[in-house]
Amino acid sequence: MAALAAEVPDGIRLKPSPTPYATFASQPAFRRRLLAWYDEHARDLPWRSTRDPYRVWLSEIMLQQTRVAAVIAHYHEFLRRFSTVRKLAAAREASVLAAWSGLGYYRRARMLHAAAKVIVRQHDGKFPSTAESLQTLPGIGRYTAAAIASIAFGKPLAVVDGNVERVLQRLSGKRLAGEILWNMAGELLAKSRPGDFNQAMMELGATVCTPRTPTCLTCPVIKLCATRGELTANSKPEPQRKREIHYELICRNHEVFLTQRGRDASLMPGMWELPELTSPKNTGDPALTLRHSITVTNYTVYVWRVAAPSRAIGKWTSVERLKHTALTGLARKILRTAGII
Ligand code: SF4
Repeated sequence: MAALAAEVPDGIRLKPSPTPYATFASQPAFRRRLLAWYDEHARDLPWRSTRDPYRVWLSEIMLQQTRVAAVIAHYHEFLRRFSTVRKLAAAREASVLAAWSGLGYYRRARMLHAAAKVIVRQHDGKFPSTAESLQTLPGIGRYTAAAIASIAFGKPLAVVDGNVERVLQRLSGKRLAGEILWNMAGELLAKSRPGDFNQAMMELGATVCTPRTPTCLTCPVIKLCATRGELTANSKPEPQRKREIHYELICRNHEVFLTQRGRDASLMPGMWELPELTSPKNTGDPALTLRHSITVTNYTVYVWRVAAPSRAIGKWTSVERLKHTALTGLARKILRTAGII
């Protein structure tokens, strides 16, 4: 594997670095090439046309653990319902969770709501502009604080997420980790355009320097890269598990019977769903069968129409109210497949 200090094919000689990792810090070519590529090829995503910290924050939280394609529609709908941080702070939690429904990882929505309240109460509705003060808000860690500070406020702070980590490791040819990665990202940062630079690094990781098959021939920094795809992910994907799950679908007069997950449930606490059947029915056929995947588990979901709930704890919800109810993603999927919403 080539060392970074080696001469690269276009004649650019990378400087030997005094740090434990090689660095491009003295190579403006890297920043220039990356930003020129980003200016031309960046995907046209709705949160890229704004510097409003509320919108930048919302997009960053939604994009954690969720694909861009899934986020776009939710981003617009969420902003339609809560167009400002004040409106979000004043909303009921159930309304916030309902707007989040389908994105999963509902703790993010609760933290977003809690942080909005802090911004309104303690900061008069104005976003803190430094990474330090942003990190005092619920649900905002080092990465998110640096992303908001650089994109919305132009602060010269680098970010490291999974995409940036992979790009830096391949560029350097080293399995860098922790503080060394943050330092390297900080040295590379284009301080004149920190928000664009950070987004360009993440965009490169998401669209070109992808985990398994980087398309190095289209990479704007291939001539500055030590590995050119050699350092691809070598860990095997986690095996998918299979599970069957059974639910009751109970309807009467334009109402559906729902149960609420416990407030202390580890997954989706407080969300509403169809009653789960602990043992499958052994007569007849299910009304619906569908597939649902959560992380490494593939569920086969059987939905049984029954006349009355097998347990009393729950509530009848009108079909009209369902769209304002904090349903789990799977409950929403079942109700859509059944033609109820
Ligand atoms: Fe990633 Fe290939 Fe570009 Fe190197 S040349 S940064 S491995 S896409």
